[in-house]
Amino acid sequence: MHSDISLFLKAIKFSAEKHRRQRRKDQQASPYINHPIEVADILWTIGNVNDVIVIVAALLHDTIEDTDATPDELRIHFGEDVLALVLEVSDDKNLPKPERKRRQIEKAPFLSSRARLLKLADKICNIRDITYFPPQNWSWQRKFEYLEWAASVIAGLRGVNRELEIHFDEIMAAAQKKLAREKDSAGHGHR
Ligand code: NDP
Ligand code: ZN
Repeated sequence: MHSDISLFLKAIKFSAEKHRRQRRKDQQASPYINHPIEVADILWTIGNVNDVIVIVAALLHDTIEDTDATPDELRIHFGEDVLALVLEVSDDKNLPKPERKRRQIEKAPFLSSRARLLKLADKICNIRDITYFPPQNWSWQRKFEYLEWAASVIAGLRGVNRELEIHFDEIMAAAQKKLAREKDSAGHGHR
């Protein structure tokens, strides 16, 4: 327990430092670190996930993809299991975006249980953000396509945590409902 809290605090500190110059894409450009903290909180609070490796990897899940953090750094500070999990949920940034998105769908059925939990919480968080704190300048069509894509990724990794999956379905239904209303109020044909 004591060592779990030490690792947890070390991960928040590391992630905050690595993401310190990044912002989310919402109107207010919220600090990026809010996102990994929220993903960890969703796992803990909604998913009842108490596996410290998953919680710590949630805090670090975007560091390899979006910052200068290296696999060696994660291995040294957080160990092989955390590194493996973060790598499992990281896209290969060398690939073009459509290819990265396609691979997330293709890889979903082969992910470990820990990676499935993390993906579920990450997508819950991002769908919530798209719906209530949307990226600036995203068209209706872009939000719609994001929801469709996220649904395809999650369809491939179900059966690992009932609470998270129910919550994902609820968030997705609310997101689709809000988007449908936006389309209606903007008139037909609006994108
Ligand atoms: P992006 O990958 O560019 O953006 C979504 C990602 O940004 C999230 O997964 C999240 O990733 C991060 N993020 C940061 N802030 C927010 C926020 N406030 N709300 C939500 N996410 C946030 O999106 P896509 O390129 O995937 O676009 C979605 C779809 O739109 C695609 O399927 C594509 O086909 C289509 N598209 C449409 C365009 C158009 O103009 N019509 C142009 C480009 C794409 P993380 O968790 O890693 O931080
Ligand atoms: Zn994320």
